[in-house]
Amino acid sequence: MADMGFAGPEPDLQDLLAARPQLEMHAQDGLCLEGVPLNAIADQHGTPVWVYGAGTMRARFVALRDAFKAEGVPMHIHYAVKANDHLAILNLFHEQGAGADVVSIGEFLRARKAGIAAADVVYSGVGKSEAELEAALAAGIGQINAESAEEIEMISAVAARLGVVANVALRMNPDVDAGTHAKITTGLAENKFGIAAEDILPLYARAAALPGVRPVGITMHIGSQILSTEPYRLAYEKGAEMVRALRDAGQSVEVLDLGGGLGIGYQDEPGLSPSAFAAVVRQVTDGLGVRLMMEPGRYLTGPAGILLASVILQKQAGKRFLVLDAAMNDLMRPAMYEAWHGILPVDAASFRAAASPADVVGPVCESADLFAKDRALPALKPGARVALLDAGAYGAVMSSAYNARPRPAAVLVDNGGFQLITRRQAPEELWAGEILPGA
Ligand SMILES: *Cc1c(COP(=O)(O)O)cnc(C)c1O
Repeated sequence: MADMGFAGPEPDLQDLLAARPQLEMHAQDGLCLEGVPLNAIADQHGTPVWVYGAGTMRARFVALRDAFKAEGVPMHIHYAVKANDHLAILNLFHEQGAGADVVSIGEFLRARKAGIAAADVVYSGVGKSEAELEAALAAGIGQINAESAEEIEMISAVAARLGVVANVALRMNPDVDAGTHAKITTGLAENKFGIAAEDILPLYARAAALPGVRPVGITMHIGSQILSTEPYRLAYEKGAEMVRALRDAGQSVEVLDLGGGLGIGYQDEPGLSPSAFAAVVRQVTDGLGVRLMMEPGRYLTGPAGILLASVILQKQAGKRFLVLDAAMNDLMRPAMYEAWHGILPVDAASFRAAASPADVVGPVCESADLFAKDRALPALKPGARVALLDAGAYGAVMSSAYNARPRPAAVLVDNGGFQLITRRQAPEELWAGEILPGA
């Protein structure tokens, strides 16, 4: 099962471990994240449980920041909240100096709650309601990325009513194929996202004439899980060209927002290199005289997260099935995108034992509740623990309580210790908001 167009041979368990410096296999304690045994976390908090490595997230932020420093390119990083919106994680990136990129008022409020100033928040997304725009503008949001002519009129009307002026960047659709999965590509003309290049000039002028908006620049986001710099180069060249065309037309352009989408290695494909990305950004924007911003999500949190689960039973029915206590409602990516996630046994002896193919599934009553097909894994007894890797982005945020399955706990590993950052949902909480008719 290829992940998003990548179709190499599947890495074995040793390869998966070797490619992830945040993980190690300890002879007694088993699989560790940042030196902390996953067994200790499961013993204390049960499974399924999300485990996030703070050190890994910080290291990835610093690697990205330093890649731009090395190129001499000042870059303002706005963490894309939708990848993982936990308050602890938003706060971690805030402490590193990041702002936030949000796509709903709920995400905006989360970012604020985590300590991020409204002025450091960019509001993206193809449909922001009037109520959302009003709340964001009243709170002093830094920038709104607009995706259509209709939206620019709407933002202006709401802002004018409030007596404020909104900083608006126009999201240009560069019509570039990011070479990623169809469900996460956003920069093609046929996608619902952004404004066609030929419409930007007149719309920018229209925005400049409206009372409630001030056009500040151009933004682009061409897709997610992008593994090559080429689509970025093509898109950013078009963006830089647009900046020059706008200035030639007498417009003021201060901001170029480069979006996110930096891909990570789920199998053994190399993730996008921050230094290669930064070099492309420098080459394309050299001398442009704009304030550069970007909005990475997956790159920062994906490899830092694990969904730790237990085997309920191993079922032999023609083929072998490993039935876990985690399911598609917890980690949706395999069912939704045919995404490939590495799976490692936590126990050291099992890790070294002979492997044979098994389908790894959850207990949910859907055939799509399949984490991996024909995956080479050892025999695992009921209660044996497994780690689903690279689940830190688009994992917990996409989860549901389908099949009345309470949401798992979440734990943050930091500095050799760990702490609970989300309580496991209690069964009563599943129906806490429900009202029986006549009651
Ligand atoms: C989702 C999204 C991002 C982040 O994408 P990643 O692939 O997680 O880096 C950035 N900007 C916008 C507008 C988005 O919709």
